[in-house]
Amino acid sequence: MTWTQNTFDNPVTRYPKVEPPEDMVAEPGRDSELDPPADHGEDSYVGSGRLEGRKALVTGGDSGIGAAVAIAFAREGADVAIVYLPAEQVDANHVAEQIEKAGRKAVLIPGDLTERAFCGVAVEHALDALGGLDILVNNAGKQIFCEDLAQLPDDQFELTMRTNIHAMFYLTKAALPHLPAGATIINTTSVQAYLPGAQLVDYATTKAAINAFTKALAGQLAPKGIRVNAVAPGPIWTPLQPSQGQPPAKLPKFGEQTALGRAGQPAELAPAYVFLASPESSYVVGETLAVTGGMPTP
Ligand code: NAD
Ligand code: MG
Repeated sequence: MTWTQNTFDNPVTRYPKVEPPEDMVAEPGRDSELDPPADHGEDSYVGSGRLEGRKALVTGGDSGIGAAVAIAFAREGADVAIVYLPAEQVDANHVAEQIEKAGRKAVLIPGDLTERAFCGVAVEHALDALGGLDILVNNAGKQIFCEDLAQLPDDQFELTMRTNIHAMFYLTKAALPHLPAGATIINTTSVQAYLPGAQLVDYATTKAAINAFTKALAGQLAPKGIRVNAVAPGPIWTPLQPSQGQPPAKLPKFGEQTALGRAGQPAELAPAYVFLASPESSYVVGETLAVTGGMPTP
């Protein structure tokens, strides 16, 4: 599918409503199998040198929001390393191809971020391959719905915490000694931090934690010239959703509750990350930028 962007696109109709079938796939979902397919900006994102010479590590950069961010960063002039699960190699290859087409270096780092040691290995790998690091995007995430806390498996609770919170801590800690002044850290939180879904108790909890982590760390690192911010997406059409992210019955109307009346596409998130990564946002510190299609946030 080809998506383009025109100057006077109406945001309501820029993309059609996403009306997927009530089908679930195994986790992790894959963009290469997503029905309907999503837009990562392959045919629309135009860079203008806003990240020239930068070196970025994007976790979960194989698909969804992370893929759109990785592609946009490359088109803005950054070399980009992405972390993803080995089962997502096909998606990662597509993103690497896009990064290379933009004339930038792509570094592929498959592995499991719930393993503490791998977080350090991933940062070392990115540092070696890129020759440094000055943008870290903690974006990998796990979201499995469960309508009854009594049925929420202990393992799921632990893995959601480890994927969404612990990995962010270990990756950031490993990267910090290498980040120069002017570097930026961007964490992906969610509208779920403010409007937690009853079926996403564990996930929503992690997203509120990511907001607090972002603001606390921002205060700590700002005097060193390192800015920490977050992006809070609303309902975005990515492989996270049909891989048990939502009850299947909710999928056909996914995103209709927003003011725009439709789900967002990953490509609509990328400009927020580019803005926060680039020096043009130099006075933006500890902020959570909401990209929610109009779902209210504090
Ligand atoms: P996605 O499935 O495309 O991306 C999530 C990625 O996380 C996967 O591609 C995978 O590579 C990575 N990941 C998960 N567990 C991992 C592990 N153990 N080790 C290594 N990598 C792992 O879906 P997405 O929606 O683009 O998600 C990106 C971020 O956006 C997540 O943090 C998610 O919580 C957040 N978010 C998504 C939405 C939405 O509606 N899609 C809304 C708000 C926030
Ligand atoms: Mg993926």
